[in-house]
Amino acid sequence: MKIYEYIVVGGGPAGIFSAIYAGSCGIKTAILEKKNRMGKKILIAGSGQCNITHTGEVKEFLTKYGDHGKFLRTAIYKYSPEDLQIFFKDHGLELVPREDGKIFPITKRSADVVELLYSLCKKYNVDIIENCEVLSIIHKDDFTLNTSTGDFNSKNILLSTGGITFPQTGSEGQGYRFAKTLGHKILEPKPCLTPIYIKDYPFTELAGISFKDISISVFDGDKKINSSKGDILFTHKNLSGPGILDNSRYMKRGNKISFNFIDLTLEQFKEDFIEYTHVHGRNLTKTFLNTYNLPERFIKNMLFEAEICEGLKISSLSKKMRDDLGKLLTEYTYEISKLGGIDVGMATNGGIDLKEINPKTMESKLVKGLYFAGEIMDIDGDTGGYNIQAAISTGILAARSIAKSK
Ligand SMILES: Cc1cc2nc3c(=O)[nH]c(=O)nc-3n(C[C@H](O)[C@H](O)[C@H](O)COP(=O)(O)OP(=O)(O)OC[C@H]3O[C@@H](n4cnc5c(N)ncnc54)[C@H](O)[C@@H]3O)c2cc1C
Repeated sequence: MKIYEYIVVGGGPAGIFSAIYAGSCGIKTAILEKKNRMGKKILIAGSGQCNITHTGEVKEFLTKYGDHGKFLRTAIYKYSPEDLQIFFKDHGLELVPREDGKIFPITKRSADVVELLYSLCKKYNVDIIENCEVLSIIHKDDFTLNTSTGDFNSKNILLSTGGITFPQTGSEGQGYRFAKTLGHKILEPKPCLTPIYIKDYPFTELAGISFKDISISVFDGDKKINSSKGDILFTHKNLSGPGILDNSRYMKRGNKISFNFIDLTLEQFKEDFIEYTHVHGRNLTKTFLNTYNLPERFIKNMLFEAEICEGLKISSLSKKMRDDLGKLLTEYTYEISKLGGIDVGMATNGGIDLKEINPKTMESKLVKGLYFAGEIMDIDGDTGGYNIQAAISTGILAARSIAKSK
Protein backbone atom coordinates (compact mmCIF):
# COMPACT_ATOMS: atom_id res chain seq x y z
CA MET A 1 0.00 0.00 0.00
CA LYS A 2 1.38 3.41 -1.00
CA ILE A 3 0.83 6.14 1.57
CA TYR A 4 0.54 9.89 0.89
CA GLU A 5 -0.54 12.94 2.88
CA TYR A 6 -2.80 14.06 0.04
CA ILE A 7 -4.22 12.05 -2.85
CA VAL A 8 -5.89 13.77 -5.78
CA VAL A 9 -8.31 11.60 -7.77
CA GLY A 10 -8.41 12.91 -11.34
CA GLY A 11 -5.82 14.96 -13.22
CA GLY A 12 -7.89 17.73 -14.78
CA PRO A 13 -7.25 21.43 -14.08
CA ALA A 14 -8.86 21.18 -10.61
CA GLY A 15 -6.74 18.22 -9.53
CA ILE A 16 -3.46 19.29 -11.11
CA PHE A 17 -3.51 22.82 -9.66
CA SER A 18 -4.48 21.46 -6.26
CA ALA A 19 -1.61 18.97 -6.33
CA ILE A 20 0.93 21.59 -7.46
CA TYR A 21 -0.13 23.94 -4.66
CA ALA A 22 0.01 21.15 -2.06
CA GLY A 23 3.38 19.98 -3.38
CA SER A 24 4.74 23.52 -3.18
CA CYS A 25 3.76 23.55 0.51
CA GLY A 26 5.78 20.39 1.13
CA ILE A 27 2.78 18.05 1.35
CA LYS A 28 3.51 14.55 0.05
CA THR A 29 1.03 14.42 -2.83
CA ALA A 30 -0.01 12.04 -5.60
CA ILE A 31 -2.39 12.42 -8.53
CA LEU A 32 -4.17 9.22 -9.57
CA GLU A 33 -5.25 9.55 -13.20
CA LYS A 34 -7.02 6.80 -15.05
CA LYS A 35 -6.00 7.91 -18.55
CA ASN A 36 -2.49 7.59 -19.96
CA ARG A 37 -2.05 11.38 -19.70
CA MET A 38 -3.51 14.10 -17.49
CA GLY A 39 -5.38 17.14 -18.79
CA LYS A 40 -7.15 15.59 -21.77
CA LYS A 41 -10.01 18.09 -21.46
CA ILE A 42 -7.60 21.01 -21.25
CA LEU A 43 -6.21 19.85 -24.59
CA ILE A 44 -9.57 20.29 -26.33
CA ALA A 45 -10.62 23.40 -24.39
CA GLY A 46 -11.20 26.48 -26.51
CA SER A 47 -10.76 24.37 -29.66
CA GLY A 48 -7.24 23.45 -28.61
CA GLN A 49 -6.29 27.03 -27.74
CA CYS A 50 -7.39 26.84 -24.08
CA ASN A 51 -9.63 29.71 -23.07
CA ILE A 52 -8.39 29.44 -19.50
CA THR A 53 -10.14 32.38 -17.86
CA HIS A 54 -11.83 35.71 -18.54
CA THR A 55 -11.23 39.39 -17.86
CA GLY A 56 -13.42 41.32 -15.42
CA GLU A 57 -13.92 42.06 -11.75
CA VAL A 58 -14.43 39.07 -9.45
CA LYS A 59 -17.88 40.40 -8.52
CA GLU A 60 -18.90 40.27 -12.19
CA PHE A 61 -17.20 36.88 -12.59
CA LEU A 62 -19.40 35.36 -9.90
CA THR A 63 -22.54 36.16 -11.92
CA LYS A 64 -21.47 33.65 -14.59
CA TYR A 65 -22.40 30.49 -12.69
CA GLY A 66 -26.21 30.61 -12.75
CA ASP A 67 -27.46 30.67 -9.15
CA HIS A 68 -24.28 29.12 -7.73
CA GLY A 69 -21.75 31.95 -8.00
CA LYS A 70 -22.06 32.70 -4.28
CA PHE A 71 -20.59 29.31 -3.42
CA LEU A 72 -17.43 30.21 -5.38
CA ARG A 73 -16.91 33.57 -3.64
CA THR A 74 -14.05 32.54 -1.34
CA ALA A 75 -12.37 30.31 -3.94
CA ILE A 76 -12.30 32.95 -6.67
CA TYR A 77 -11.48 35.89 -4.39
CA LYS A 78 -8.57 33.89 -2.95
CA TYR A 79 -7.36 32.77 -6.38
CA SER A 80 -8.64 35.21 -8.97
CA PRO A 81 -8.19 35.42 -12.76
CA GLU A 82 -5.49 38.00 -12.03
CA ASP A 83 -3.63 35.55 -9.76
CA LEU A 84 -3.84 32.97 -12.52
CA GLN A 85 -2.32 35.38 -15.03
CA ILE A 86 0.52 36.19 -12.62
CA PHE A 87 1.09 32.46 -12.03
CA PHE A 88 1.47 31.74 -15.74
CA LYS A 89 3.63 34.80 -16.36
CA ASP A 90 5.93 33.81 -13.49
CA HIS A 91 6.33 30.41 -15.11
CA GLY A 92 7.12 31.73 -18.55
CA LEU A 93 3.80 31.32 -20.37
CA GLU A 94 2.00 34.63 -20.61
CA LEU A 95 -1.80 34.76 -20.79
CA VAL A 96 -3.39 37.35 -23.06
CA PRO A 97 -6.97 38.62 -23.30
CA ARG A 98 -8.83 38.71 -26.58
CA GLU A 99 -11.08 41.61 -27.52
CA ASP A 100 -14.14 39.74 -26.21
CA GLY A 101 -12.49 39.26 -22.80
CA LYS A 102 -11.59 35.58 -23.20
CA ILE A 103 -8.07 34.86 -21.96
CA PHE A 104 -5.70 32.40 -23.70
CA PRO A 105 -2.03 31.44 -23.42
CA ILE A 106 -0.03 33.68 -25.73
CA THR A 107 0.92 30.66 -27.84
CA LYS A 108 -2.80 29.75 -28.26
CA ARG A 109 -1.85 26.14 -27.56
CA SER A 110 -3.57 24.07 -24.87
CA ALA A 111 -0.68 21.63 -25.10
CA ASP A 112 1.69 24.31 -23.74
CA VAL A 113 -0.52 24.69 -20.66
CA VAL A 114 -0.52 20.95 -20.02
CA GLU A 115 3.22 20.71 -20.56
CA LEU A 116 3.87 23.49 -18.05
CA LEU A 117 1.65 21.79 -15.47
CA TYR A 118 3.57 18.53 -15.89
CA SER A 119 6.85 20.34 -15.32
CA LEU A 120 5.49 22.02 -12.17
CA CYS A 121 4.28 18.69 -10.78
CA LYS A 122 7.83 17.44 -11.23
CA LYS A 123 9.31 20.57 -9.63
CA TYR A 124 7.14 20.16 -6.51
CA ASN A 125 7.59 16.39 -6.21
CA VAL A 126 3.99 15.50 -7.02
CA ASP A 127 3.78 11.82 -7.97
CA ILE A 128 1.74 11.45 -11.16
CA ILE A 129 0.37 7.94 -11.39
CA GLU A 130 -1.24 7.44 -14.79
CA ASN A 131 -3.29 4.54 -16.12
CA CYS A 132 -4.49 4.30 -12.53
CA GLU A 133 -8.26 4.10 -12.28
CA VAL A 134 -9.74 4.52 -8.82
CA LEU A 135 -12.36 1.81 -8.41
CA SER A 136 -13.60 2.34 -4.86
CA ILE A 137 -12.84 4.38 -1.74
CA ILE A 138 -13.20 3.21 1.85
CA HIS A 139 -13.13 5.64 4.76
CA LYS A 140 -12.26 4.67 8.31
CA ASP A 141 -9.83 6.99 10.13
CA ASP A 142 -8.28 7.76 6.76
CA PHE A 143 -9.01 6.80 3.15
CA THR A 144 -8.07 3.61 1.33
CA LEU A 145 -8.33 3.88 -2.44
CA ASN A 146 -8.63 0.66 -4.36
CA THR A 147 -7.29 1.22 -7.90
CA SER A 148 -6.48 -0.68 -11.06
CA THR A 149 -2.81 -0.58 -9.99
CA GLY A 150 -3.12 -1.41 -6.30
CA ASP A 151 -4.16 0.23 -3.03
CA PHE A 152 -3.31 3.75 -1.84
CA ASN A 153 -3.82 5.39 1.52
CA SER A 154 -4.14 8.99 2.62
CA LYS A 155 -5.74 11.05 5.34
CA ASN A 156 -6.82 13.73 2.85
CA ILE A 157 -8.28 13.12 -0.59
CA LEU A 158 -9.63 15.35 -3.34
CA LEU A 159 -12.35 14.14 -5.68
CA SER A 160 -11.75 16.03 -8.93
CA THR A 161 -13.02 13.51 -11.46
CA GLY A 162 -14.98 16.08 -13.50
CA GLY A 163 -18.50 15.77 -14.91
CA ILE A 164 -20.07 13.45 -17.49
CA THR A 165 -19.49 15.08 -20.87
CA PHE A 166 -16.85 14.14 -23.44
CA PRO A 167 -16.29 10.83 -21.61
CA GLN A 168 -13.41 9.97 -23.94
CA THR A 169 -11.37 12.54 -21.96
CA GLY A 170 -11.82 10.43 -18.82
CA SER A 171 -14.71 12.22 -17.10
CA GLU A 172 -17.43 9.60 -16.97
CA GLY A 173 -19.05 10.47 -13.66
CA GLN A 174 -17.31 7.81 -11.55
CA GLY A 175 -16.57 10.36 -8.82
CA TYR A 176 -20.29 10.69 -8.06
CA ARG A 177 -20.38 7.03 -7.08
CA PHE A 178 -17.45 7.45 -4.67
CA ALA A 179 -19.05 10.55 -3.13
CA LYS A 180 -22.38 8.78 -2.77
CA THR A 181 -20.76 5.82 -1.01
CA LEU A 182 -19.18 8.34 1.38
CA GLY A 183 -22.65 9.73 2.18
CA HIS A 184 -22.98 12.66 -0.24
CA LYS A 185 -26.09 13.66 -2.13
CA ILE A 186 -25.75 13.88 -5.92
CA LEU A 187 -28.01 16.17 -7.93
CA GLU A 188 -28.78 14.52 -11.25
CA PRO A 189 -25.95 15.39 -13.65
CA LYS A 190 -26.93 16.52 -17.15
CA PRO A 191 -24.97 18.02 -20.02
CA CYS A 192 -25.04 21.80 -20.32
CA LEU A 193 -23.38 24.43 -22.51
CA THR A 194 -25.14 22.61 -25.33
CA PRO A 195 -27.05 23.68 -28.44
CA ILE A 196 -30.81 23.08 -28.39
CA TYR A 197 -33.09 21.35 -30.88
CA ILE A 198 -36.47 22.84 -31.78
CA LYS A 199 -39.55 20.80 -32.68
CA ASP A 200 -40.31 21.14 -36.43
CA TYR A 201 -37.18 23.30 -36.72
CA PRO A 202 -38.09 26.18 -39.04
CA PHE A 203 -34.61 27.71 -39.36
CA THR A 204 -32.68 25.22 -41.52
CA GLU A 205 -32.44 27.76 -44.33
CA LEU A 206 -30.95 30.30 -41.94
CA ALA A 207 -27.79 28.31 -41.14
CA GLY A 208 -24.93 30.69 -40.43
CA ILE A 209 -27.06 33.71 -39.47
CA SER A 210 -26.48 35.08 -35.99
CA PHE A 211 -28.13 37.73 -33.81
CA LYS A 212 -26.29 39.83 -31.24
CA ASP A 213 -27.54 40.47 -27.73
CA ILE A 214 -31.22 39.63 -28.21
CA SER A 215 -33.75 38.88 -25.46
CA ILE A 216 -34.27 35.17 -24.80
CA SER A 217 -36.99 33.76 -22.54
CA VAL A 218 -37.49 30.18 -21.39
CA PHE A 219 -40.88 28.82 -20.26
CA ASP A 220 -41.90 25.70 -18.38
CA GLY A 221 -45.58 25.43 -19.33
CA ASP A 222 -46.86 28.98 -18.97
CA LYS A 223 -44.29 29.94 -16.34
CA LYS A 224 -41.29 32.00 -17.44
CA ILE A 225 -38.29 30.34 -15.78
CA ASN A 226 -35.47 32.42 -17.21
CA SER A 227 -34.90 35.55 -19.22
CA SER A 228 -31.60 36.86 -20.45
CA LYS A 229 -29.86 38.62 -23.32
CA GLY A 230 -27.29 36.96 -25.54
CA ASP A 231 -25.99 36.10 -28.99
CA ILE A 232 -27.64 33.25 -30.89
CA LEU A 233 -26.60 31.34 -33.98
CA PHE A 234 -28.83 29.39 -36.36
CA THR A 235 -27.24 26.17 -37.60
CA HIS A 236 -28.75 23.83 -40.14
CA LYS A 237 -30.14 21.55 -37.43
CA ASN A 238 -30.17 23.43 -34.11
CA LEU A 239 -29.76 26.71 -32.26
CA SER A 240 -26.42 27.59 -30.76
CA GLY A 241 -24.30 30.63 -29.80
CA PRO A 242 -23.37 31.84 -26.29
CA GLY A 243 -26.93 33.01 -25.53
CA ILE A 244 -28.19 29.45 -26.03
CA LEU A 245 -25.21 27.56 -24.58
CA ASP A 246 -25.06 29.66 -21.40
CA ASN A 247 -28.79 29.30 -20.76
CA SER A 248 -29.01 25.59 -21.57
CA ARG A 249 -28.53 24.90 -17.84
CA TYR A 250 -32.08 26.19 -17.30
CA MET A 251 -33.67 24.20 -20.13
CA LYS A 252 -35.09 20.76 -20.59
CA ARG A 253 -37.01 18.87 -23.23
CA GLY A 254 -40.58 20.17 -23.56
CA ASN A 255 -39.74 23.70 -22.37
CA LYS A 256 -40.51 26.57 -24.69
CA ILE A 257 -38.15 29.32 -25.80
CA SER A 258 -38.86 32.72 -27.33
CA PHE A 259 -36.68 35.39 -28.91
CA ASN A 260 -37.20 39.07 -29.43
CA PHE A 261 -35.40 39.78 -32.68
CA ILE A 262 -36.24 43.49 -32.88
CA ASP A 263 -36.12 44.65 -29.24
CA LEU A 264 -39.71 45.94 -29.34
CA THR A 265 -42.87 44.72 -27.64
CA LEU A 266 -45.62 43.40 -29.87
CA GLU A 267 -47.59 46.60 -29.20
CA GLN A 268 -44.62 48.78 -30.21
CA PHE A 269 -44.23 46.74 -33.39
CA LYS A 270 -47.89 47.30 -34.24
CA GLU A 271 -47.51 51.05 -33.67
CA ASP A 272 -44.43 51.10 -35.93
CA PHE A 273 -46.32 49.15 -38.54
CA ILE A 274 -49.33 51.48 -38.53
CA GLU A 275 -47.14 54.58 -38.68
CA TYR A 276 -45.07 53.16 -41.57
CA THR A 277 -48.12 51.99 -43.52
CA HIS A 278 -49.65 55.44 -43.17
CA VAL A 279 -46.69 57.03 -44.97
CA HIS A 280 -45.34 54.19 -47.16
CA GLY A 281 -48.40 52.03 -47.78
CA ARG A 282 -47.26 51.12 -51.28
CA ASN A 283 -43.94 49.66 -50.10
CA LEU A 284 -43.45 45.92 -49.82
CA THR A 285 -43.63 44.36 -46.36
CA LYS A 286 -40.02 43.25 -46.69
CA THR A 287 -38.98 46.88 -47.27
CA PHE A 288 -40.61 47.74 -43.96
CA LEU A 289 -38.78 44.85 -42.24
CA ASN A 290 -35.51 46.14 -43.67
CA THR A 291 -35.84 49.15 -41.37
CA TYR A 292 -34.99 46.78 -38.47
CA ASN A 293 -31.66 45.82 -40.09
CA LEU A 294 -32.64 42.17 -40.30
CA PRO A 295 -30.73 39.80 -42.60
CA GLU A 296 -32.39 39.26 -45.99
CA ARG A 297 -32.70 35.47 -45.56
CA PHE A 298 -34.24 35.95 -42.13
CA ILE A 299 -36.88 38.36 -43.49
CA LYS A 300 -37.76 35.83 -46.18
CA ASN A 301 -38.11 33.12 -43.55
CA MET A 302 -40.33 35.24 -41.28
CA LEU A 303 -42.62 36.19 -44.18
CA PHE A 304 -42.89 32.52 -45.13
CA GLU A 305 -43.71 31.49 -41.55
CA ALA A 306 -46.34 34.25 -41.31
CA GLU A 307 -47.76 33.09 -44.66
CA ILE A 308 -47.19 36.48 -46.25
CA CYS A 309 -46.37 36.60 -49.94
CA GLU A 310 -43.06 38.40 -50.54
CA GLY A 311 -44.61 40.61 -53.22
CA LEU A 312 -47.39 41.86 -50.94
CA LYS A 313 -47.63 45.62 -50.31
CA ILE A 314 -47.69 46.54 -46.65
CA SER A 315 -51.10 48.22 -46.97
CA SER A 316 -52.56 44.92 -48.23
CA LEU A 317 -51.68 42.97 -45.07
CA SER A 318 -54.63 41.82 -42.98
CA LYS A 319 -54.62 42.54 -39.25
CA LYS A 320 -54.03 38.84 -38.59
CA MET A 321 -51.02 38.77 -40.93
CA ARG A 322 -49.56 41.83 -39.20
CA ASP A 323 -50.09 40.33 -35.75
CA ASP A 324 -48.63 36.95 -36.77
CA LEU A 325 -45.56 38.68 -38.18
CA GLY A 326 -45.22 40.84 -35.05
CA LYS A 327 -45.45 37.78 -32.80
CA LEU A 328 -42.80 35.92 -34.80
CA LEU A 329 -40.44 38.85 -34.41
CA THR A 330 -41.07 39.63 -30.75
CA GLU A 331 -42.48 36.75 -28.70
CA TYR A 332 -43.22 33.59 -30.65
CA THR A 333 -42.42 30.46 -28.61
CA TYR A 334 -40.70 27.35 -29.98
CA GLU A 335 -40.79 23.96 -28.28
CA ILE A 336 -37.44 22.47 -27.26
CA SER A 337 -37.44 18.88 -28.52
CA LYS A 338 -34.07 18.01 -26.96
CA LEU A 339 -30.75 19.35 -25.73
CA GLY A 340 -27.33 18.23 -26.92
CA GLY A 341 -25.99 15.12 -25.19
CA ILE A 342 -22.75 14.15 -23.47
CA ASP A 343 -20.94 14.20 -26.80
CA VAL A 344 -21.52 17.96 -27.27
CA GLY A 345 -22.16 19.46 -23.81
CA MET A 346 -19.09 21.38 -22.72
CA ALA A 347 -19.95 21.17 -19.02
CA THR A 348 -22.17 19.30 -16.56
CA ASN A 349 -25.07 20.78 -14.64
CA GLY A 350 -25.74 18.98 -11.34
CA GLY A 351 -23.28 16.89 -9.33
CA ILE A 352 -22.23 16.95 -5.67
CA ASP A 353 -24.79 18.97 -3.70
CA LEU A 354 -23.08 22.21 -2.65
CA LYS A 355 -25.01 22.28 0.63
CA GLU A 356 -22.74 19.50 1.87
CA ILE A 357 -19.44 21.22 1.00
CA ASN A 358 -17.84 24.02 3.03
CA PRO A 359 -17.33 26.87 0.51
CA LYS A 360 -14.52 28.34 2.62
CA THR A 361 -12.38 25.17 2.45
CA MET A 362 -13.93 22.82 -0.19
CA GLU A 363 -14.00 20.15 2.53
CA SER A 364 -16.99 17.86 2.86
CA LYS A 365 -19.27 18.84 5.74
CA LEU A 366 -19.91 15.13 6.27
CA VAL A 367 -16.50 13.45 6.06
CA LYS A 368 -13.32 14.99 7.48
CA GLY A 369 -10.41 14.96 5.05
CA LEU A 370 -12.62 14.60 1.96
CA TYR A 371 -12.39 17.54 -0.47
CA PHE A 372 -14.05 18.38 -3.78
CA ALA A 373 -12.98 20.64 -6.65
CA GLY A 374 -14.01 21.42 -10.21
CA GLU A 375 -16.83 20.15 -12.32
CA ILE A 376 -17.72 17.19 -10.10
CA MET A 377 -19.53 19.73 -7.91
CA ASP A 378 -22.89 21.24 -8.83
CA ILE A 379 -21.11 24.15 -10.53
CA ASP A 380 -21.19 25.09 -14.18
CA GLY A 381 -20.06 28.36 -15.69
CA ASP A 382 -20.88 30.23 -18.87
CA THR A 383 -18.68 29.85 -21.92
CA GLY A 384 -15.62 32.10 -21.88
CA GLY A 385 -13.10 30.53 -19.49
CA TYR A 386 -15.30 30.43 -16.40
CA ASN A 387 -15.23 26.64 -15.98
CA ILE A 388 -11.48 26.20 -15.97
CA GLN A 389 -11.04 29.16 -13.62
CA ALA A 390 -13.60 27.67 -11.20
CA ALA A 391 -11.85 24.29 -11.35
CA ILE A 392 -8.45 25.88 -10.63
CA SER A 393 -9.67 28.20 -7.86
CA THR A 394 -11.55 25.42 -6.03
CA GLY A 395 -8.61 23.02 -6.43
CA ILE A 396 -6.23 25.55 -4.93
CA LEU A 397 -8.61 26.39 -2.08
CA ALA A 398 -8.78 22.70 -1.13
CA ALA A 399 -4.98 22.43 -1.07
CA ARG A 400 -4.65 25.67 0.89
CA SER A 401 -7.07 24.35 3.52
CA ILE A 402 -5.08 21.12 3.86
CA ALA A 403 -1.81 23.06 4.14
CA LYS A 404 -3.36 25.26 6.83
CA SER A 405 -4.61 22.32 8.88
CA LYS A 406 -1.24 20.53 8.70
C1 LIG B 1 -14.98 20.52 -25.88
C2 LIG B 1 -14.81 21.29 -24.60
C3 LIG B 1 -14.25 22.55 -24.64
C4 LIG B 1 -14.12 23.28 -23.45
N1 LIG B 1 -13.54 24.51 -23.52
C5 LIG B 1 -13.40 25.23 -22.38
C6 LIG B 1 -12.75 26.49 -22.39
O1 LIG B 1 -12.22 26.92 -23.42
N2 LIG B 1 -12.69 27.19 -21.22
C7 LIG B 1 -13.23 26.71 -20.05
O2 LIG B 1 -13.16 27.39 -19.02
N3 LIG B 1 -13.80 25.49 -20.01
C8 LIG B 1 -13.88 24.74 -21.12
N4 LIG B 1 -14.45 23.50 -21.06
C9 LIG B 1 -14.86 22.97 -19.74
C10 LIG B 1 -13.62 22.58 -18.92
O3 LIG B 1 -12.70 21.90 -19.74
C11 LIG B 1 -14.01 21.72 -17.72
O4 LIG B 1 -15.00 22.39 -16.98
C12 LIG B 1 -12.80 21.43 -16.84
O5 LIG B 1 -11.85 20.68 -17.54
C13 LIG B 1 -13.21 20.69 -15.58
O6 LIG B 1 -12.05 20.41 -14.86
P1 LIG B 1 -12.00 19.24 -13.78
O7 LIG B 1 -10.60 19.21 -13.31
O8 LIG B 1 -13.07 19.44 -12.79
O9 LIG B 1 -12.37 17.91 -14.57
P2 LIG B 1 -11.76 17.24 -15.88
O10 LIG B 1 -10.99 18.20 -16.68
O11 LIG B 1 -12.91 16.56 -16.53
O12 LIG B 1 -10.75 16.16 -15.32
C14 LIG B 1 -11.18 15.03 -14.61
C15 LIG B 1 -10.07 13.99 -14.62
O13 LIG B 1 -10.41 12.93 -13.73
C16 LIG B 1 -10.01 11.70 -14.32
N5 LIG B 1 -10.80 10.62 -13.72
C17 LIG B 1 -12.13 10.43 -13.79
N6 LIG B 1 -12.50 9.34 -13.11
C18 LIG B 1 -11.37 8.81 -12.58
C19 LIG B 1 -11.10 7.67 -11.79
N7 LIG B 1 -12.07 6.85 -11.39
N8 LIG B 1 -9.83 7.42 -11.41
C20 LIG B 1 -8.82 8.25 -11.80
N9 LIG B 1 -9.02 9.34 -12.57
C21 LIG B 1 -10.28 9.63 -12.96
C22 LIG B 1 -10.29 11.91 -15.79
O14 LIG B 1 -9.60 11.00 -16.60
C23 LIG B 1 -9.86 13.36 -15.99
O15 LIG B 1 -8.49 13.44 -16.34
C24 LIG B 1 -14.57 22.74 -22.21
C25 LIG B 1 -15.11 21.46 -22.19
C26 LIG B 1 -15.23 20.73 -23.36
C27 LIG B 1 -15.82 19.35 -23.29
